[in-house]
Amino acid sequence: MSTATATELVSTNPATGEAIGSVPVTPVEGIGEVFERSHAAQGAWARLNLDERIEMLKRAIPVLDKRAEQIGALVTAEMGKTIAEGMGEVRYGVDGLAGKLDEIAVALAPETINDGSTKSTLYHDPFGVCVAITPWNFPFLMPLQIILPALAAGNTVVMKPSEMVPFVGQALADAFNEVLPTGVLQIVHGDDEQGKALVAGNCNLIGFTGSRAAGQHILSAAGRDLKRVVLELGGKDPMIVLEDADINAAANFAVRNSFRNCGQVCVSTERIYVADAIADEFEAEVAKQTAALVVGNGSDDGVEIGPMVSAEQKASVIAQLEQAKKDGATVACGDEPMDGNYVRPTVLTGLTNDMPIMRDETFGPVACIMRVSSDDQAVRLANDTPYGLGAAVFGGERAEAVARGLTAGMIGVNQGCGGASGTPWVGAKQSGYGYHGGREGHRQFTQVRVVSRPCSD
Ligand code: NAD
Repeated sequence: MSTATATELVSTNPATGEAIGSVPVTPVEGIGEVFERSHAAQGAWARLNLDERIEMLKRAIPVLDKRAEQIGALVTAEMGKTIAEGMGEVRYGVDGLAGKLDEIAVALAPETINDGSTKSTLYHDPFGVCVAITPWNFPFLMPLQIILPALAAGNTVVMKPSEMVPFVGQALADAFNEVLPTGVLQIVHGDDEQGKALVAGNCNLIGFTGSRAAGQHILSAAGRDLKRVVLELGGKDPMIVLEDADINAAANFAVRNSFRNCGQVCVSTERIYVADAIADEFEAEVAKQTAALVVGNGSDDGVEIGPMVSAEQKASVIAQLEQAKKDGATVACGDEPMDGNYVRPTVLTGLTNDMPIMRDETFGPVACIMRVSSDDQAVRLANDTPYGLGAAVFGGERAEAVARGLTAGMIGVNQGCGGASGTPWVGAKQSGYGYHGGREGHRQFTQVRVVSRPCSD
């Protein structure tokens, strides 16, 4: 977490309240010059061929590998997730980097289509300068999702990490800048003021991951010049538990996916619809497992749930919880007050779909369970949201058909929503506008251009 003044961004450990250090805020008036440097560097970067750019990006892997432990500790220090989660995030990113770049190289290679009379070559060219604006909840992985395909395509990038995690963003940029030409990747520090200035500035493409509200703002601001945008936004993911589900497997998943990263995950399970017939047993198992979770400083051994990222994030979760109780929800476990930025993982039952806690993104450690009397009712309630990021269905044979009825972009059957390697990370409805990953996701950071000639030529 952090506090911003006009000139300094002070990063603070949310577990202890201690300052980690500060970085200089990029003045809004200085952003024009940042873009000038990006445009100046872009031509030469784009003139390298795809393989040369991929090769150069891969040179950052040993640099990041050497610093992985230090960056993992920074993730925990700046945003509070446990050390296992922080290290896990960085290791996952670094260990997968070579494979990801190979996948991007295949996606962006020219493609030929020959219909017998015309031979066309599709080139995946850069747009120019790409802005990457990212959130704090996966401070290492989120910037990578944007900067890798954008840079590989020949764009230069100006990245702005969340104001909550400036040091993780800086560490990532520093590692790449040891191997990239000057100006190809630049970093801007600041909050939404800098974000807005970047969106309004001299860029050609905006890759944004964050809240739906900020995404709406960016889309309309970018519309003035028809700048390209790729938005990965918030969610309100449902989980449906059918009456023939493996109750233990479903409860294990519900607990893990509601409370991982203290519930601060875009694809956290935020609503659970459970069949009446198994609801008693399911609720009891979820409550039992939740009550056993160890909450504390994410740097300490044995802690499973760290603090929330900030006092503001905690206040927003507590406000939703209090409103839900006023509206008649029952606390099945948790909800005991905690000091600092900590929130005791809480299970609510007796909910209805019109309560704010079932409609607005919570982004905190609350599992909300509602009973349903049929598959159709579960699907109808699950789809009754403007969000459409992830979803999960636990059950037997009917589970896949139920999954196909859901309007989310990624749906897991008897597992989380993450797909096989090479599949996109995609939000439907208001959870996304464009998407990342997989062949088509990588290509969204490119301008397709078609050169055609007669086959007889
Ligand atoms: P946020 O929208 O408040 O901020 C995200 C980034 O945008 C920050 O860098 C911030 O400074 C900047 N920003 C804020 N308002 C802006 C504006 N109007 N113009 C330009 N930049 C602006 O989100 P957050 O609190 O950092 O992150 C949590 C949100 O991110 C949740 O809604 C979560 O679901 C979402 N998220 C989505 C995904 C996904 O893949 N779909 C992944 C991670 C997080």
